[in-house]
Amino acid sequence: MRRLPWTPIAAFALIVVIALLAPWLGLANPVSMDVPHRLAGPSAAHWLGQDEFGRDVFARLIWGARVSLSVAVAAAALACVVGTTLGVVGGFLRGIAEILALRSIDVLLCFPPLLLALLVVTLLGPGATTLIPVLALVYLPGFTRVAYAGVLTARSQDYVEAMRVLGAGKSRIMLRTILPNIGGPLLVQFSLAMAAAVVLESGLSFLGLGVVPPAPSWGLMIGAARATMTQAPLLLLWPCLALTATILVMNALCDGLRDAVDPHPAYRPTARRLLDALAPGLLPTPRAVLDLRGLTVEIDTPHGPIHPVRDVSLQVFPGETLAIVGESGSGKSVTSLAITGLLPGAARVISGAACLDGTDLLRLSEDRLRNLRGAAMAMVFQDPGSSLNPVHRIGDQIAEAIIAHRPMPRAQATSAALALLQRVGIPDPARRLRAFPHELSGGMRQRVMIAIAIANGPRLLIADEPTTALDVTIQAQVLDLLADLKRERGLALLFITHSLPVVAEIADRVAVMYAGEIVETGPTAEVFLNPRHPYTAALLRSAPVEDGPAPEGIAGVVPPPTALPPGCIFAPRCDRAAPVCTTTHPALEAAGEGRAVRCIRWNQP
Ligand code: SF4
Repeated sequence: MRRLPWTPIAAFALIVVIALLAPWLGLANPVSMDVPHRLAGPSAAHWLGQDEFGRDVFARLIWGARVSLSVAVAAAALACVVGTTLGVVGGFLRGIAEILALRSIDVLLCFPPLLLALLVVTLLGPGATTLIPVLALVYLPGFTRVAYAGVLTARSQDYVEAMRVLGAGKSRIMLRTILPNIGGPLLVQFSLAMAAAVVLESGLSFLGLGVVPPAPSWGLMIGAARATMTQAPLLLLWPCLALTATILVMNALCDGLRDAVDPHPAYRPTARRLLDALAPGLLPTPRAVLDLRGLTVEIDTPHGPIHPVRDVSLQVFPGETLAIVGESGSGKSVTSLAITGLLPGAARVISGAACLDGTDLLRLSEDRLRNLRGAAMAMVFQDPGSSLNPVHRIGDQIAEAIIAHRPMPRAQATSAALALLQRVGIPDPARRLRAFPHELSGGMRQRVMIAIAIANGPRLLIADEPTTALDVTIQAQVLDLLADLKRERGLALLFITHSLPVVAEIADRVAVMYAGEIVETGPTAEVFLNPRHPYTAALLRSAPVEDGPAPEGIAGVVPPPTALPPGCIFAPRCDRAAPVCTTTHPALEAAGEGRAVRCIRWNQP
């Protein structure tokens, strides 16, 4: 465990202690009225003034904290326990448990949160005790989804397999191995649920469906102050300030705790995420390291031009991994070659832009592009055996890569190469520095390629099937190394693969390509849990799942760029195709938060 977040802990403790000690702080009675002095401003006797009934605002603020905080913490804790249990049981046991857990959550998600809360409060009647289960019900699906996705990811890891091999039982694996690994995301979810519960409690109290007057709560205070805001605007300010400060402290606390319990070195723009959670859209979206817009590639053939990549747009942000996944011939590698300006002679980009930190790579001269390759952007290829020069020593090849962009004495470059070999986990790096590529294993050669790729601190790393040639154990180590480097350095990682398990392990977001087009994009967990394009769903069904149903192949093959069908290109292989699909080419359209899909029927039953 790293250093605890003492500042948020102290701030949260202060808020809780003040709220708990309210009866002993010598405050004025929060419900006693003094109508002759209604709306009086701050004074020595009433530090924050008096409300519309002459009640002491300071006392009501402190007593209101007791109600608002206890409702929010209890609701978030209840949602966390029930939601996490559902997600963990569903993800770990699979089968009927998974169906029951996820379908019940899907039913809850059909209702907008505020409507669901209004419905249940109307049925059960207002009151602080009713609010706790109501708010728990609203925030429960978030915990289930986070836990479920976390368990699915963790259960396929080698360390879980290792525990099984050691003879550990299911409950031990769950408690000792999987739960600690999903603790971080759950803590973040807890902080968000707690902060959102404070806001929703205030909203429901404001509507008269939460805490019953005259008991004080921040929501009631805001609701009452609204009616008199022209005469006494400060009455609105105090509860709003208290609400905002408490939520900021809660978020900082849970964020800090998550960082403290997560042993991974991390690239975390904490302040930015905190503000994003509190006020979505307040801060501008960080600029994408890679911003690809409408990329179309043309290749001349004896039968005329073909377009293996059409209108491809994607963005990769700092500290993020975007995986491009699809079968052979889907255009993944052509896209990456176009970005780096390494397309073969017969191919050319005919439209689009590929901006790396704002510079359009497609419009640069070859000299400028060469300066950026290996410096601002780097690539790791599939076969490290053929990517390393067989007649030069490893150390010389890494030093060469460094000196190509940062001229320095050879000895200095060699010591930098040694540090890089250490960083990528090569055992006995001083000796390996003098080794030739054939003296290293496949996994070590790929680590050397990664060392060369990061030698000059690139902002964008493109990894084109970097683990395909490796066996499963080495593959997992290389993926871990890439994920660590991404977090450490805030790299934008564009990962190209045909393997869905690899995507699940490494990618934050995924772009599914089919026959030269992106057919679906979105956060990996959401796309995998709820694919919206029939091709994505078919790809998922074709991947082997431990203890799951037998994989199903996808009928047919990817059409070649010379013989694309009319309408939807996936129509000949699609089990949902309708007559309209063969005449209308679907556009990539928004399909929910951060998601897009290219299918006419994605939202039809
Ligand atoms: S548009 Fe029609 S054919 Fe294409 S993926 Fe959607 S349902 Fe299938």
